Amino acid sequence: ERLVTAEADGEEQAVEAALRPKNLDEFIGQERVREQLSLVLTAALGRGATADHVLLSGPPGLGKTTLSMIIAAEMGVPIRITSGPAIQHAGDLAAILSSLSEGEVLFLDEIHRMSRPAEEMLYMAMEDFRVDIIVGKGPGATAIPLDLPPFTLVGATTRAGLLPPPLRDRFGFTGHMDFYAPAELERVLNRSARLLDVELSAEGGAEIAGRSRGTPRIANRLLRRVRDYAQVRANGKVDRDIAARALDVYEVDALGLDRLDRAVLRALTTLFGGGPVGLSTLAVAVGEETETVEEVAEPFLVRSGFLARTPRGRVATAKAWAHLGLNPPQGALP
Ligand code: ADP
Repeated sequence: ERLVTAEADGEEQAVEAALRPKNLDEFIGQERVREQLSLVLTAALGRGATADHVLLSGPPGLGKTTLSMIIAAEMGVPIRITSGPAIQHAGDLAAILSSLSEGEVLFLDEIHRMSRPAEEMLYMAMEDFRVDIIVGKGPGATAIPLDLPPFTLVGATTRAGLLPPPLRDRFGFTGHMDFYAPAELERVLNRSARLLDVELSAEGGAEIAGRSRGTPRIANRLLRRVRDYAQVRANGKVDRDIAARALDVYEVDALGLDRLDRAVLRALTTLFGGGPVGLSTLAVAVGEETETVEEVAEPFLVRSGFLARTPRGRVATAKAWAHLGLNPPQGALP
């Protein structure tokens, strides 16, 4: 498992729960989403109404689940958490919807991965707080309408563009979450260090933040590994030097690239002169599946300007050559 993946594994979820901000004021960064959401919630509270449905879009690890819990906390209502892939049949969704209490928040992670029939049931539930339960099969099937208590759906998706427009249109508000600036990640790290009782210097925090790929989940994970190192190899305190040494052990470099990322860039530069080279050739060169290179390594490399996808293949940028400490051959750069 990669240390710099933005996804959480099962075990990590319990550790993460302790680090989640509990209200909007504690939530760091994402100023625009926070302000917009604050208006939506305060207005609903003022009217004594259930909050509008909220869609949160953005890459994993940026705080969508956390925000959904904050929405419930701010509204003073319970929350139910599920995900698109967990809802195979419309009946699964009907069972959840019909058991919601009044005003409850239903958090639907990866909402774009719901099955078609469930999605269609959700349209009516969101709009009219009603579902049709289909009883029987074939020509004898009948629809029994069932009224639902008003609830707030909070949907999360990696890209709002993946949602069918009829679903997207039923959300009263869409919050677009973006990667965090290093200074914001430093604040996340300071807060987590306090909660975990780790002594973290400002420079130590900056060092970890710089390697966290704009993602609070990764920042918190790196902090835990650095804490281990500081405890075992030093006096428990984390300064710049300890943070850097710890993360070197875990092969997460100064800009957050890990071993796979660097292997891709190294192959691209030293074996193929900087490209362009086809994805499958590149994958063979690093001994990985095409999908691994494309879905695991490339998104961050492209976003950070190390690698460009061109119609003729993958190309290393000047930044990639510089990061590896190499000189590009004359005329090699795109
Ligand atoms: P997502 O649902 O987008 O994958 P999560 O809400 O599960 O992300 O957040 C992942 C981890 O990062 C959690 O432990 C959470 O505490 C932390 N986190 C995310 N956003 C923030 C933030 N703005 N401030 C502080 N911690 C955050």
